[in-house]
Amino acid sequence: MMLLIKKILFIFLIFNLFTCFLYAQKKQNRYIVVIDPGHGGTDPGKPKGKANLMHEKDLNLEISFKIGKYIEQNLPNVDVYYTRSTDKFVSLQDRVELANTKKADLLISVHCNSNKNSAINGVEAHIYNLSMPASKKIANLCVEELQKGAKRKSRGVIDAKMRGRNLYVTQYTNMPSVLVEFGYMSNQNEEKYLNNDENQNILASAIYRAVKKYFQNIIPSENRAKYYRVQLLATNKLLSNEAKVFEDLEIKVDIYENNENAKAKYKYMVGREYDLERAEALAKKVAQLGFKNAFVVKIEDE
Ligand SMILES: [Zn+2]
Repeated sequence: MMLLIKKILFIFLIFNLFTCFLYAQKKQNRYIVVIDPGHGGTDPGKPKGKANLMHEKDLNLEISFKIGKYIEQNLPNVDVYYTRSTDKFVSLQDRVELANTKKADLLISVHCNSNKNSAINGVEAHIYNLSMPASKKIANLCVEELQKGAKRKSRGVIDAKMRGRNLYVTQYTNMPSVLVEFGYMSNQNEEKYLNNDENQNILASAIYRAVKKYFQNIIPSENRAKYYRVQLLATNKLLSNEAKVFEDLEIKVDIYENNENAKAKYKYMVGREYDLERAEALAKKVAQLGFKNAFVVKIEDE
């Protein structure tokens, strides 16, 4: 009798271990993607070229919904969130905050491009830095799929160094992030192409396939918890981050409280750079704008 009970207990234990294992496996393979339709509301992005066409903000929303739909229908282990789902203005800070609080695995920002030269056309994937392996991977997959599957001209993967400036949504997100430019509205043919519902489906399905491949393979690790900020100054009296002294910077100022032993109670920081060179350039820039003692600080989030 004892032996039978032991046997039953043993089988029960094995069964439990197995279901725990399955649960852990399932949990491990769940992903969150945040889709970020660029612009919206009072910010139209690139305005439409003709009355019967769409502003960039509306094209972005259409393409975003289509990407989300493809993912939701075909990748049941991926949850999709949007930074906006209506025609409203959402700040860049709020977009990033949503992705960060959802603890997204990936952020895809959706935009359409423009240039003074109306001959320029093609798709681009923008990331913070080519040395960020996961962002580079999803960006490469996006342009590859847009080129092969959607037959678009690829203008490649572009980072902050090549661009000469940062893009907020690729800079302040805690997760791998890419901003896809789906074509040039300043090019008449491409603008016409972008306004077609079926073409939008083709573009969206290319991004869906890129996302699918990205999660199917081993995702390279990308450390976004270590970065540099620039400290502007430290004060004992608390200043608002919208104080006049910060006006010329045109960059969001964050206030930190110093530990008790420090000389000044509050410190004020700007920027988020993953390479020292760009952080030093920012320190130099803010020094020229009046914060002569600005310096680079290394941050490590837990
Ligand atoms: Zn845009």
